[in-house]
Amino acid sequence: MLKVEHISKSYGSLKAVDDLSFTVQDGEIFGLLGENGAGKTTTFRIIMGLLDADEGSVTLNGKKIDYSITDQIGFVTEERSLLLKMTVKEQLIFYGVLKGMSEEEVLKEMDHWLERFEIPDYKDRKIKELSKGNQQKIQFISAVLNHPKLLILDEPFTGLDPINVQLLKEAVWDLQKEGCSIIFSSHQMEHIELFCEKLVLLVHGKSILEGYVKDIKHDYAKKNILIQGDMKKSDLEKIDGVISVVKEPQDYQVKIKNDEVVPHVFEAIKKYKIRKFVVEEPTLNEIFIAKVGEANEK
Ligand code: ATP
Repeated sequence: MLKVEHISKSYGSLKAVDDLSFTVQDGEIFGLLGENGAGKTTTFRIIMGLLDADEGSVTLNGKKIDYSITDQIGFVTEERSLLLKMTVKEQLIFYGVLKGMSEEEVLKEMDHWLERFEIPDYKDRKIKELSKGNQQKIQFISAVLNHPKLLILDEPFTGLDPINVQLLKEAVWDLQKEGCSIIFSSHQMEHIELFCEKLVLLVHGKSILEGYVKDIKHDYAKKNILIQGDMKKSDLEKIDGVISVVKEPQDYQVKIKNDEVVPHVFEAIKKYKIRKFVVEEPTLNEIFIAKVGEANEK
């Protein structure tokens, strides 16, 4: 289990991380969200032991993070930490041995992963000659070669086509099943929705929203109703509690203040021919935009 307790970090007068706490259980995928400059990379660097926090502590399975346990942390970041002049095999041996594996163990894992990522013949290719997507796969393999206890994934799908995104997703789920704690950061909310049970949302280094995704969605009162039918936009707009109505080619997207508005909407339009009426949870993307907007206005 990863435990982050009250960490803060300033660069000069700028507070990049401000009293942040969260825990990630074994086998949990945790989302660290925030706009550009919110403090995610700084948080990752503190967790990885690359940067000292001014205050607070980080422990992995009860141990303070220092050089004795950084081998148990794998990370995939946007800046690729690849050794471009090496071959795939040389790079994996380099990182594997640094993490305390024998060469034999590295080669066994390497064959498994190259096969799994559908590049079995790539071991003798130079990293610099690989496509961006294949470099990303090698970076991922370097990070998970020794079955880390904690895996940090910062925009891990950058540069991957949909087939490779799927291969990587399945690999992440398998690591989760092994009990690996995973922190995931992405600006693509559909990936966060798919992966994370729990999340924290940072604005200027401070957590403004945290908890289980299902609770966050439930507590965010605004809902959407998707309606297909013969009414006019104005019929919907005049209903009390309706925030906005967007007409799309096939249907209306109606944003409402809360659940209690649903029967009023239904009542007001039931005289029309309705082909579809679905109440939907808000998307994480919507919640992200609304919450970050509110926090920035304060
Ligand atoms: P992004 O999504 O763009 O990667 P981020 O959430 O990872 O952003 P950080 O890189 O942690 O954000 O940056 C947080 C704040 O700290 C930003 O205002 C950034 O400009 C500042 N910052 C980061 N590193 C340094 C540094 N070495 N010196 C001074 N300021 C820094």
